[in-house]
Amino acid sequence: MVSDAIDPLDVVIVGGGPAGATLALALRDSGFDYRVLDARPRGGLGIGDRTLALAHNARLLFERVGVWDKLASVTPITTIDVSQRGAFGITRLDASDAGVPALGYVIRYSELQAALDAALHDAGIAIDFGARVASVAADDAASRIRVVAHAGSRNGDAPAGQVEYSARLVVVADGTGESLREIHRRRIDYHQHALTAIVTSDAMKPGVAYERFTKDGPAALLPFGTNYALIWTATPARVTELLEQDDASFLATLHRHFGDRAGRFTAVTGRHAFPLSLQFAARVTGTRSVVLGNAAQALHPIAGQGFNLGLRDVWTLAETLLDGDRGAIGSATQLAAYERSRRVDRWAGVAMTHSLVRAFANEHPLAALPRGLGLTLLDCVPPLKRAFARAMLNGLR
Ligand SMILES: Cc1cc2nc3c(=O)[nH]c(=O)nc-3n(C[C@H](O)[C@H](O)[C@H](O)COP(=O)(O)OP(=O)(O)OC[C@H]3O[C@@H](n4cnc5c(N)ncnc54)[C@H](O)[C@@H]3O)c2cc1C
Repeated sequence: MVSDAIDPLDVVIVGGGPAGATLALALRDSGFDYRVLDARPRGGLGIGDRTLALAHNARLLFERVGVWDKLASVTPITTIDVSQRGAFGITRLDASDAGVPALGYVIRYSELQAALDAALHDAGIAIDFGARVASVAADDAASRIRVVAHAGSRNGDAPAGQVEYSARLVVVADGTGESLREIHRRRIDYHQHALTAIVTSDAMKPGVAYERFTKDGPAALLPFGTNYALIWTATPARVTELLEQDDASFLATLHRHFGDRAGRFTAVTGRHAFPLSLQFAARVTGTRSVVLGNAAQALHPIAGQGFNLGLRDVWTLAETLLDGDRGAIGSATQLAAYERSRRVDRWAGVAMTHSLVRAFANEHPLAALPRGLGLTLLDCVPPLKRAFARAMLNGLR
């Protein structure tokens, strides 16, 4: 075993995905002694590529850490058209309802990751690639982080084998929370998969996103360049069938499923499937440890809230660390303050997403009536609509 650190570091961030890398950049001028450990190889992706709808607040955060203007394929969403198939009820949310230039922005996960990696490199932030954290154990003084490193990781000069770091705070942003056994996560399987793809329509309306609730589950089309990013949820068996269809059959099925709202679909590329579940940690702090991002809560993508919520974890943790003395890093008092400040927003995000999944997954014909009334009410009462748009954009703090 190579023991790499005698004095504990201030912070070790496990996972340099979008959440962990953004936190590392937010701490750039702190003077803290910290490093990032990521299992993926340099230049690789931790998980499958996808498009992400980011809220306006996420844009502000990425501007502050200097990566927003590095993202070439950002597509603004100015209107969201929400409807249910085969029943009444429709609402349209406009950027003007929330008083912002755009309701959100669509980007590619892989492009965001590449921009974050480049920013980490430019800022000289220490990151070990190919470094999989096997376990974290903590006592009152420090967390010990055991890493299985591959040859060629850590700026190309670390030997393969095991490395151990110690830190006054370990931040687990590994997407699953598996590195930290002390924090328990609940899991509710939705028995649904999301099929993602890029589709072209003959009647693309720039800036307009469609969220459509159907008896199989929700389907969304997000404007992405001159195409749409599709997220279509259905049972695993149905998604397997859809993946196996040739392009022409798939496009015809999509049109039958989606109706005429977004025109006729003419091309599709890059179909992938993701299993869907709700996973969340009731408490996000432990002894000298925090979980954040998807490690704290992984949500159904129905309302595009998962990463947006994770970014609010990141920002609040950065503020908590930067506001305190260096000696307070990882103390029980500091972690309790962070836990309190995230409670309402996290629970609201989880509850809202889970309720939407349950409300719109109900196939009983009578369930369509209250859903339709809800959508119509939202459309007819501007203050309600504004409040809803604001909650979707900013969360509840
Ligand atoms: C189909 C789909 C669509 C989505 N759409 C949206 C959307 O529109 N809007 C939105 O806000 N969210 C969306 N999400 C959610 C979003 O993808 C996640 O919230 C986001 O990727 C979480 O980022 P993260 O950094 O927490 O975790 P991850 O992206 O999972 O990154 C984790 C990182 O940790 C590293 N790692 C893992 N294990 C270890 C280990 N043991 N040791 C060291 N490193 C490790 C990995 O290599 C990776 O780099 C969607 C999700 C899906 C599945």
